[in-house]
Amino acid sequence: MAEVRSLTVPSKINLILKITGKRPDHYHQLQTLFLPLAVPADRVELHWSGPGIRVCSSRPGLPEDLDNLGGRAAQLYASAAGVAPEWMFRIEKNIPVAAGLGGGSADAAAVLRLLNEHYRILPAAALTALALQLGADVPFFLTPRPAWAGGIGEELTWLPAELPAVPLLLINPCFPVSSAWAYRHFEPERIGKLPGFHADLLLEAWRAADWEAFGKLLHNDLGLALYEKFPLLEMLRRRLFQLGACGVQISGSGPTMFAVCRDADSREALAEALQQEFSDLRCFTAEPYRHF
Ligand code: ATP
Repeated sequence: MAEVRSLTVPSKINLILKITGKRPDHYHQLQTLFLPLAVPADRVELHWSGPGIRVCSSRPGLPEDLDNLGGRAAQLYASAAGVAPEWMFRIEKNIPVAAGLGGGSADAAAVLRLLNEHYRILPAAALTALALQLGADVPFFLTPRPAWAGGIGEELTWLPAELPAVPLLLINPCFPVSSAWAYRHFEPERIGKLPGFHADLLLEAWRAADWEAFGKLLHNDLGLALYEKFPLLEMLRRRLFQLGACGVQISGSGPTMFAVCRDADSREALAEALQQEFSDLRCFTAEPYRHF
């Protein structure tokens, strides 16, 4: 039987997202705190097939072949490593698309990892450089563990692995938001003028599992534009606090929100109450990803 390799890749949320500048090439410079989540996660399979690169997914409407970010990753790998591609990738898509959870980037990183684990041609630094060509948060997904990221998202500093699991609920309103839209609506004159964030306090609260304090320290500079454009998000934010959340924030460029709860029981109660009121939301009990 032909060999098949597979990898499960986590999603991510941004506990903090601060825009610190804009480069002449229009990329935004950030300081962000990434947290990988085991749920939702995608699964990517690599099959050896006829010449070329094929990509298909379990989600209808997702770009296929070289239009898929996974296909582009494979193409870059083939030319950087000098291998003739004969690959078919099957993506089991569980991460909501255009949702601020990094799904496309996660798949691209999975493809790079699967190929390099098999061919063992590129050193880690070269793989990271390829990842960055595909997107600012692709390097994070090569080694998905809680990390601070600077630059455009690629300067990674990992956090200690033994931090307690945050009782998180993910709430995905089932409409897409393009990252380009969210960043375009961040006005550059706001850089440096919006409230700051308190990384040290957040880490202290995290270590102490003080979710009340932790919840107050979440931050996202892209939130303003998103709350303005999508009143449902503001409505959800208020309702989540009324239902007992300690903190609520939008992940990345949205629209997925996450709520920090007091404990696992209150998270379950929150999910139940929310689904009764808003039947077309998708809620995920977001478990930490620990397979690094
Ligand atoms: P980020 O949080 O990294 O800004 P996102 O989670 O908001 O991104 P994605 O789910 O990565 O957004 O999708 C962004 C766009 O990329 C979609 O419009 C989608 O059609 C396209 N795309 C290409 N390949 C993929 C893939 N493998 N998975 C998801 N989207 C993909």
